[in-house]
Amino acid sequence: MAVVVLLNLLASIFYIYTPARRIHAMRVSISYFRSFFLLMASGFVVFGLAFPKTEPIHSVLTAAFFLTAFFCLKYGFIVRQNPDHPPLYKSKFFYLNLIAIIAINGFLFQYYIESHLMRSAALTSNCSIISILTLKYIHKDKTSKKYGESLATLGVLFSIFCAMAMLLTLNYTQDIFTYFSVFMVSQSLIAILILGGSQAIFLSDLADLYYQESVTDVLTGLYNRRFFLRQSESLLKFAERHDYPISIILCDIDYFKRVNDNYGHEHGDKALIAFANVLKESSRESDITARFGGEEFIILLPKTDAKGATVLAERMRSATESLSITNGRKTVSITASFGVTTFDHTNSIDEHIKQADTALYLAKSRGRNQVVLHDASEAINASIE
Ligand code: GH3
Ligand code: MG
Ligand code: MG
Repeated sequence: MAVVVLLNLLASIFYIYTPARRIHAMRVSISYFRSFFLLMASGFVVFGLAFPKTEPIHSVLTAAFFLTAFFCLKYGFIVRQNPDHPPLYKSKFFYLNLIAIIAINGFLFQYYIESHLMRSAALTSNCSIISILTLKYIHKDKTSKKYGESLATLGVLFSIFCAMAMLLTLNYTQDIFTYFSVFMVSQSLIAILILGGSQAIFLSDLADLYYQESVTDVLTGLYNRRFFLRQSESLLKFAERHDYPISIILCDIDYFKRVNDNYGHEHGDKALIAFANVLKESSRESDITARFGGEEFIILLPKTDAKGATVLAERMRSATESLSITNGRKTVSITASFGVTTFDHTNSIDEHIKQADTALYLAKSRGRNQVVLHDASEAINASIE
C-alpha cells in the first residue's frame, strides 16, 4: 500500500517540474493529471489508514477520491485536445456519478457490513466505465498517432483490463488477501503507464509546438524562408525522380512603403496578413506558401506547369486587387506583382528563385500589378536594360 501511495505522490511531483508547464495551453491539462495522481494517493491513504476497521466515512471518501481521480484523467486528455472545454467542476455528469457512487457505498455499508468486496466491485466497474470513455480523447490527431498517446492508451486499456481481472478474482475467490494483492500490483502498473504515457505526450506536444514556431512566420502564420528553402530542396528532388513539373511564384506588394508611411505600420501589418490569406486560400494543401522577406512571398507548386502557375498567380493578383483592408475608419487597397518560373530540373533552387525574381522585376518595371512568366530571352533583355 505504501509503495502505491509513494508511486502516485512521486508521479504528481513529475508534473510540477515538467518542462511542458512553460506552455500556458498545457498547464490546465497538466494540473488534471497531477490531480489524478494526488487523488489516487489520497484514496489509498484513507483506505490504508482505516483498514481493516473501515467506517462508512472512509468507504465513501475512498470512493469519492478514486472516482474523481478517473474523471481528472479523462479531463486531462479532453483539455489537451480542447483547452476551452468547460472545467470538471462544471460537469453535471460528474456530480451525478459522484452522488451515485457515494450512495451505493453508503447503502452497501449500511446493509451489508461485510461488503468491502461488493463496494470494491461497484467502484472498480464505475472507474473502468470512465476509463473506456477516456479512450476516445487520447489521440489528438487521428492521422498521426504519437508514441506517448499509444503508451497512454495502453495505460488506460490496462486499467480496464485490471478492473476485469479484479472482478474475475472476486468471482473466483473471496480471499481478500488475493484480491488486494491483484489490486495493488495493478495500481502500481497503471500509475507507471499513465505517468510515462502522459509525460511522453506532453514532451512530444512541446517538441511539435517548438518545431511549428521554428518554421512559421509569426505575423502571417505562413511558413518562413528557412522552411521554404529546406522543404523545396527535397520536393525538387522528388519531382525530378517522378518526372512531374514544379513551379514557383514570387510576389511582392506594390508600393508597400507608402501604405506604412500613409496609414501607419499597424495598418501595414493588417495588409500583410490579408495578402498572406489570399495566397493561402488560393493555393493547395500540397503547395508551400511562405513569407520570403518583408512584403515578399513565395509559393512552391508541385505538379504544376508554367501555364497552371501563371493562371494561379493571375487569380491571386486579381483577388489582391479586390481586397479592402480596414483599420479603424481608414481603408486601404493594395496591388501586387508576380514573377513565375517552372523548374527545368537542371538548375538549383537558388537559380530558379533568381529566375522568378527576374520575372518579378520585369512585372514591377512594366508598371506593377501584373504577372510575368520567366522567359530566358526576356531575362537577357532585362539585364541589358
Ligand atoms: P515596390 O512596389 O517596388 O515593391 O515598392 P515597395 O514600397 O513595396 O518596396 P520597398 O522594398 O521600398 O518597401 C518595402 C516596405 O515593406 C518597407 C518596409 O517598411 C515594409 N515592411 C517590411 N516588413 C514589414 C512588416 O513586417 N510590417 C510592415 N508594416 N511593413 C513591413
Ligand atoms: Mg514591394
Ligand atoms: Mg520588396
